[in-house]
Amino acid sequence: MNGAISDNEAFLSDLLKLLERLDLGGVICGIAVPSVYLFQFSSRLVDNPFLLGSQDVSARKDNGPFTGEISAKMLTEFDCSFSIVGHSERRENFQESNEDIAKKATQLLQYGITPIVCVGENAVLRKNGDAVAFVAGQIDELSSFLSKELLGKCKFAYEPIWAIGTGKTALTSDVREMHTTIRRSLVKNIGEDSGLQIPILYGGSVNADNVLEIMSEECVDGVLVGGASVRMDSFGDLLEKAVNRLH
Ligand code: PEP
Repeated sequence: MNGAISDNEAFLSDLLKLLERLDLGGVICGIAVPSVYLFQFSSRLVDNPFLLGSQDVSARKDNGPFTGEISAKMLTEFDCSFSIVGHSERRENFQESNEDIAKKATQLLQYGITPIVCVGENAVLRKNGDAVAFVAGQIDELSSFLSKELLGKCKFAYEPIWAIGTGKTALTSDVREMHTTIRRSLVKNIGEDSGLQIPILYGGSVNADNVLEIMSEECVDGVLVGGASVRMDSFGDLLEKAVNRLH
């Protein structure tokens, strides 16, 4: 939960300046903003290859008696091309289950919006050696609520909860183990053809200093950035490094 109209304006103006000289080429970059700021961002990012996304979506259908909810259909009006679902903060603070997350993904996909589904273990599970089983279980449970076709259209983010906002990035060996676990679970549930194609991002204290090391791992298809994306000084550095490396 970050943002204010005036801060966003300064952020957007710096972002657009950067995008004038930084050729994204085929590199997919975007920002997920709180829904109240979608209008502001979408009106400034018109015709820009830099994508706009939301930080959440309702699990409910298009319209109806669900006061306060924001549907996938509403997101399409702001050119949202992706939405984060199942962020650990929503799982923990709002008791979102894998079934809820699957419903959100289903709503998004109905409107052509890509769900970025977050999975990841907390510090206790990691300490007890249960991280692999827990995350594989998250994928299995999600798979039980989504058809193969829909699951194949999602993107995943491995976000170890203990690494989010803590400055503690996962060791590359742990990232490798967990991304391999996610990949295996996806292949098990939807087969090799789709399971090998699904992008798996890493998120957890990624910044301009460590982004290249993380992205040098073959199993990492991209990064999901929280704190370092709030201000354009840190986000701009990170973007430039990541995009130039992928060119
Ligand atoms: C996040 O909020 O999903 C996240 C990864 O945050 P940070 O980059 O600050 O760890």
